Amino acid sequence: MIDVLVIGGGNAALCAALMAREAGASVLMLEASPRAWRGGNSQHTRNLRCMHEAPQDVLADAYTEEEFWQDLLKVTGGQTDETLARLVIRASATCRDWMRRHGVEFQPSLSGALHTARTNAFFMGGGKALVNAYYRSAMQLGVQVRYDAPVDRIELDGRRFVAALVKGERIEARSCVLAAGGFESNRAWLREAWGRNARGEYPADNFLIRGTRFNTGTLLRGMMDAGADTVGDPTQAHMVAIDARAPLYDGGICTRIDCVSLGIAVNRDAERFYDEGEDFWPKRYAIWGRLVAQQPGQIAYSIIDAKAVGRFMPPVFPGVKAASLPELARRLDLDEARFVQTLHAYNAACRPGHFDHARLDDCRTEGLTPAKTHWARPIDTPPFFGYALRPGVTFTYLGLKTDETAAVHFGGQRSPNLFVAGEMMAGNVLGKGYTAGVGMSIGTAFGRIAGTRAAHAVRQGTAQGATHAAA
Ligand SMILES: Cc1cc2nc3c(=O)[nH]c(=O)nc-3n(C[C@H](O)[C@H](O)[C@H](O)COP(=O)(O)OP(=O)(O)OC[C@H]3O[C@@H](n4cnc5c(N)ncnc54)[C@H](O)[C@@H]3O)c2cc1C
Repeated sequence: MIDVLVIGGGNAALCAALMAREAGASVLMLEASPRAWRGGNSQHTRNLRCMHEAPQDVLADAYTEEEFWQDLLKVTGGQTDETLARLVIRASATCRDWMRRHGVEFQPSLSGALHTARTNAFFMGGGKALVNAYYRSAMQLGVQVRYDAPVDRIELDGRRFVAALVKGERIEARSCVLAAGGFESNRAWLREAWGRNARGEYPADNFLIRGTRFNTGTLLRGMMDAGADTVGDPTQAHMVAIDARAPLYDGGICTRIDCVSLGIAVNRDAERFYDEGEDFWPKRYAIWGRLVAQQPGQIAYSIIDAKAVGRFMPPVFPGVKAASLPELARRLDLDEARFVQTLHAYNAACRPGHFDHARLDDCRTEGLTPAKTHWARPIDTPPFFGYALRPGVTFTYLGLKTDETAAVHFGGQRSPNLFVAGEMMAGNVLGKGYTAGVGMSIGTAFGRIAGTRAAHAVRQGTAQGATHAAA
């Protein structure tokens, strides 16, 4: 019988598998996807958030535990477990040497949409290179990996893990780590969670999924049905406004539209609905998915003029271009008169100031609802551009409750041999909101804990067995 079964094939699963193997356990990983699509959402990532007291290799200045904690506290509005959050933060200071030992390379922060040189360590080659490095290392260490192996069900004996079922095959193991992601790719579940709005629409039907199609939440649902304790709200998710032309799954990072704060955004009725200049885009991009989800038809349009071009990371598809505002309205299929009226009202409300996109400048509107509080400049210089936006779900926050041991809990009691890591438990730290790079910090910290604990549980089980045998 295998010692440690790891279910999932992304960052958290790989960290768990490597740690369990390093601790001497035999390890089998079950990844739902084919080999070519291995790596879950982790293959789309770019960086992880790291605390550090002084400049360190790819990280500038300092980013202290307290500052990281305050950032997390702010974005979650207090919906976080401080003990687990601080555990993740401290682990983020020391994990990079271990990552390097397994072949992960880092690069200096890229300049561009996110100002993260101080807070985030970027993976050379992105998340795809990271997961490939981990898979290589896992194979060298003798971890067994099976692809096309979606686990349908977990067999439990009370709180104890017994076996996993894959396409009718029963696989027993002494302990198990669940690292199978959230349920963001399960469109029926998203529909159920979001329900029907006052307009009679099912908003989730218009969501796009930024990552893997394999995170269907099968195991999350199964564990909930089996009485595992949960944490988080099923409607909470990291949601970004992305290019409406993005594919349903796996559009990844390049479908983000980062020009919203440089112009205005209008809905299907050609009306503005939120302050586009409320704060720096990296601090606001993750609320715009939800804002668009609340608009009629779950669509919006980011509108800019020639002055904005070159000031944001260009999206992968070119925007709809027009020489005049009425032409842009027609090309975007928006009501021309209302669109022009909205633009004229906005342009007239812009007060002169000193435009500076690198700080919260004094270019704002006056007498307009909603106001645009920074970077408000008239949209008056052709050519004009429009980008249709849709809500893009990154990952869901509903997960399994855990503690510093990463054990799955049933009625407040730990399982002795079933552990959880990554998106499947990220809701313990992220009740809502997001700060860039923390998903990988959580997955790395808890993946490593879960792997170590799973190996430890095997040793304990063996020791117990030996005692019983001797007696
Ligand atoms: C476009 C995009 C960009 C992102 N950028 C960043 C970033 O730069 N920094 C950051 O910190 N976070 C980022 N995130 C979030 C980040 O991807 C997640 O927080 C992190 O990858 C979670 O890791 P995980 O191992 O828990 O899940 P995943 O990497 O999603 O892995 C889950 C795995 O489980 C497998 N699986 C699912 N169901 C089953 C089943 N029933 N049986 C077997 N296997 C199963 C899947 O195939 C998959 O391999 C990004 C996400 C996306 C979508």
